Amino acid sequence: MPAITNHLPTAELQALDAAHHMHPFTTNDELAAQGARIITRANGVYLHDSEGNEILDGMAGLWCVNIGYGREELAEVAARQMKELPYYNTFFMTTHVPAIALAKEIASLAPAHLNHVFFAGSGSEANDTNLRMVRTYWAMKGKPSKTVVISRKNAYHGSSVGSGSLGGMSPMHAQGGLPIPDITHINQPHWWAEGGDATPNDFGLACAQELEATILAMGEDRVAAFIAEPIQGAGGVIIPPETYWPEVQRICDKYEILLIADEVICGFGRTGNWFGSETVNIRPDIMTIAKGLSSGYQPIGGSIVSDEIATVINSGEFNHGYTYSGHPVAAAVALENLRILQEENVLDHVRDVAAPALAEMWNGLGDHPLVGETKIIGMMGSLALTPKKETRAKFAADAGTAGYMCRERSFANNLIMRHVYDRLIISPPLVITPEEIKLMGQRARLALDEAYVQMKDLDLLKEAS
Ligand SMILES: *Cc1c(COP(=O)(O)O)cnc(C)c1O
Repeated sequence: MPAITNHLPTAELQALDAAHHMHPFTTNDELAAQGARIITRANGVYLHDSEGNEILDGMAGLWCVNIGYGREELAEVAARQMKELPYYNTFFMTTHVPAIALAKEIASLAPAHLNHVFFAGSGSEANDTNLRMVRTYWAMKGKPSKTVVISRKNAYHGSSVGSGSLGGMSPMHAQGGLPIPDITHINQPHWWAEGGDATPNDFGLACAQELEATILAMGEDRVAAFIAEPIQGAGGVIIPPETYWPEVQRICDKYEILLIADEVICGFGRTGNWFGSETVNIRPDIMTIAKGLSSGYQPIGGSIVSDEIATVINSGEFNHGYTYSGHPVAAAVALENLRILQEENVLDHVRDVAAPALAEMWNGLGDHPLVGETKIIGMMGSLALTPKKETRAKFAADAGTAGYMCRERSFANNLIMRHVYDRLIISPPLVITPEEIKLMGQRARLALDEAYVQMKDLDLLKEAS
């Protein structure tokens, strides 16, 4: 069999990819016609493709490569662990050192009352764990009717049947019979798009109070938990008004509703603290983790569980687990990632250097004729594209047309930004330097300028009526 390597011509690799590889969240026929970009290697904040481009990764992969690419230590730990113990499960009254050490380390980083970790292979799996765990918790407490989980429209919690149901993405719900029963979705605190004439703070409060209204409408005895990302990521980096989270916490406390903070993006430094829950000052009962836990070097996720829930769950058998729960290689790599984040003071770098520089760059784009609001917290930011910022107008063109054009121009200028409909989003590696942030800003502005000219030529700057 001839080897398929980086040395094959791009077109040949693209043809093979199109023939055999089905991409996630992609119209594969369109991709096949265009040809996928082939990433060959990466270092620091830069990706390299098969055409010799050096691309600044403004998304840290998929929000995960917090530590940057090319850290040899992680590769060495993985190799060492593979030689010593490549795999063993944690089902049969057994355990191993990487799982023990990682669970202990995570517990020491998490808020004081969260000291127990249930491992999974991904964020989706971890949220499936959470769904079953909160229902099981209430059943074991003698309240089996508490099964409903309240979530939010446009939330992202993963793509399995359970986690996709917890999420609030309507294009996902439209396929495959989601959501499953007893999951309900309230509005997101997305002032720019949905706030109407309300002030951001009034709108934030109203969104939070929808949680209370939903609990009261269903009955407290039906509701198990509320799940939310501290800052919505895939939904468009939506930073809620400051009134939102305190009110949600008050409501969860008042009605004894468990709070699940999905920290898959916000966790491990993204918002400038170890967890987004600290940044928005909430006290979750469970935190979902994945992505930045291993900086994406290995697939791993988990649920960090409160002492109270663990006490109840641990008193019986929880009939749940994954072959790769606590996988030794993934756990060893995650542990090494956490060691580096701590020993190199990466969170200090974020707080003192990178986040201020990123905010200055990002907010500086606010004067561009296509840009409405710019929003940023720590190392995640978004901006709204609009034909008229004063009225927060939408484009007459289909939602996402402008966003897609900006993203394409960004790719063409060797910067990876993503778009969510007509919002552009960034989430670079935490280790990015001020010089690299400056380059990011230059490329982002160039992309906006080029998209603006293109949209003007195509008469796409019209407002929706
Ligand atoms: C990515 C993501 C998930 C799902 O994680 P996977 O590892 O892709 O299964 C869950 N929640 C949030 C907030 C995410 O961003």
